[in-house]
Amino acid sequence: VDALRHALGDDRRAPGADRHAAGGDRRAAGGDRRAGHGRIAVHLQPQVDLDDGRVVAAEALVRWEHPERGVLPPAVFLGLAEEHGLMGRLTAEVLEQAARAAAAWDTEGQPVRVAVNLSTSCLEEPGLVGVVEGALARSGLPADRLVLEITETSLMHDPDRAVEMTHRLANLGIGLSIDDYGTGYSSLAYLNDLPAEELKLDRSFTARALADPRTRAIVAGTVELAHHLGLRLVAEGVEDRETEELLRELGCDRVQGYLHARPMPAEAFARWLRDRSTAGRPHAPLAVEG
Ligand code: C2E
Ligand code: MG
Ligand code: MG
Ligand code: MG
Repeated sequence: VDALRHALGDDRRAPGADRHAAGGDRRAAGGDRRAGHGRIAVHLQPQVDLDDGRVVAAEALVRWEHPERGVLPPAVFLGLAEEHGLMGRLTAEVLEQAARAAAAWDTEGQPVRVAVNLSTSCLEEPGLVGVVEGALARSGLPADRLVLEITETSLMHDPDRAVEMTHRLANLGIGLSIDDYGTGYSSLAYLNDLPAEELKLDRSFTARALADPRTRAIVAGTVELAHHLGLRLVAEGVEDRETEELLRELGCDRVQGYLHARPMPAEAFARWLRDRSTAGRPHAPLAVEG
């Protein structure tokens, strides 16, 4: 967090010093910060299986819980972390927290997996396999309960290297998911070379599926492609029941989105999971984070 804070230009400055923060001008004038730097925290958002309504996984989404600015979304700081070479450390922290959280979920024998996002730079970092192994070992989380999400775009930077890395990761026994599917400009050929188990259809398709027949055709075609390749199709950004119904009709396997829950802090998610399984109401939506 220190390094990130520094990168944001948000660290302590001598009185009168110029600010050159990419992060901006949100501070109360003259207020100095004794509240600390806040923390990097993982928030979790459930994924629901459309066959039986069960929660099968949760995606870990990084947040910076800032003492003054509140909860900062990744869009605010991921670019800077990347620019300042901090992505490796950030990812290690996210993996650590996500694995620890998932290892503690009490789901009565129904395993719930945790999915962690990887950036392009991480995928090209030879040490990544060791970092993943370490997080699994320290948390006690079985490898098959961890999923790593990679984007098409991150594969395209150096495809040979990226594909090799995905195989090394898959050999650990973790799952691989292709995130934001449909938004990149990559060729379909690489799908053949990847040890992936699912495609995550980008939210932009989900959002337009009800209103736009052409988008519906794209979703239907993607479902078919995924299934022919032995992959699951997960739709992200599902916000309403009608869209979920449509996705079910189109053959989509799983959904993630505000309809079921917004991303929430780890403790809140653990409670949500427990309440939901005791309530026995697999479809009960509950929004926690604003
Ligand atoms: P993503 O991996 O595609 O994650 C899904 C994003 O959609 C999340 O945004 C989530 O909060 C949001 N979302 C989920 N359901 C809905 C919905 O129903 N409606 C709408 N409008 N949005 C929904 P978030 O958390 O802001 O993350 C944005 C992106 O930042 C992620 O997109 C991912 O690419 C990246 N990211 C997040 N956490 C990490 C991380 O730990 N490491 C890396 N490398 N990237 C991360
Ligand atoms: Mg993702
Ligand atoms: Mg997306
Ligand atoms: Mg995505």
